[in-house]
Amino acid sequence: AKGAGKNQWRRYQRHLHDEMVERLELRSALGHAVSEGRFLLHYQPIVDLAGGVAVGFEALVRWAHPNRGVITPDQFIEVAEESGLIVPMGRWVLEEALRTVSEWRRVLPSGHAPYVSVNVSVRQFREAGFVEQVRAALQHTGVPPRALMLEITETLLMKDDEQRIWADLNTLREMGIRIAIDDFGTGYSSLGYLRQRPIDVVKIDKTFIDDMVASPQLVDGIVSLARSLGLTVVAEGIEDPAHRDLLVRMGCPLGQGFLFSSPLGPTEVLAWMTGAAV
Ligand code: C2E
Ligand code: CA
Ligand code: CA
Ligand code: CA
Repeated sequence: AKGAGKNQWRRYQRHLHDEMVERLELRSALGHAVSEGRFLLHYQPIVDLAGGVAVGFEALVRWAHPNRGVITPDQFIEVAEESGLIVPMGRWVLEEALRTVSEWRRVLPSGHAPYVSVNVSVRQFREAGFVEQVRAALQHTGVPPRALMLEITETLLMKDDEQRIWADLNTLREMGIRIAIDDFGTGYSSLGYLRQRPIDVVKIDKTFIDDMVASPQLVDGIVSLARSLGLTVVAEGIEDPAHRDLLVRMGCPLGQGFLFSSPLGPTEVLAWMTGAAV
């Protein structure tokens, strides 16, 4: 029995060691991916729930790994955050999303020109000059500020240097850029807390949408309070037509989810837009 315990301990240590090595390898590979530009963006439609037409697209980063194929962010965002690599990666994401939306706007009839919504890490805000970076990127891509939305997660916003981040968000918003609170409901903030804040959009986290048939009160409450505060609501992760119908009845204007489309490549977006708009 004693020998077995020892073996178990060794296995455990080996496991810890392997995990550490894996993390270090991931961090190093991610560093190379940043310097070699091995990322790409997919875009998920944000849909007008009543009309079924896309009004915007959320840019979602992917890593084109040389031997592991296309990797989604759940497998590397955490390491990117911890290592600070999210900052140069995020800079690329912003530039690329704006280049792409400027192309869509050139090709599509102006009445159907969509906006792009870009996820921003709080670490990007901590870097000096983030606001200037956004301003410059808009300028040299020729994208109007109205065609850009920035998404920032609720949990990250509640952490430190809050005041500075709110000041930057205020400046960005005065430029005409829209600000969305992402994954709303997963943190501790209430809509009351958001009352005096420079925010345009609240994105309700998928977990609430999944539970909606059993407990619709929560989503209904968020939608009506958000509306009374003059905020737009986007419901995330809609997979079920029954959920969409319920959301429409609640007066939720916008939604995203596999029911409408999974994230698409940039050229697929144009096909989707012309197919859906005509
Ligand atoms: P998020 O911002 O909440 O993005 C929504 C995620 O849910 C995406 O996963 C999307 O593909 C997935 N999704 C959309 N509709 C459905 C649905 O109907 N059902 C299900 N099961 N899932 C759905 P993805 O692309 O893997 O992104 C995961 C997270 O990674 C994002 O969550 C976001 O927090 C982060 N992320 C993605 N791109 C970036 C980026 O460029 N910068 C930063 N900082 N974070 C990013
Ligand atoms: Ca998001
Ligand atoms: Ca989200
Ligand atoms: Ca999320």
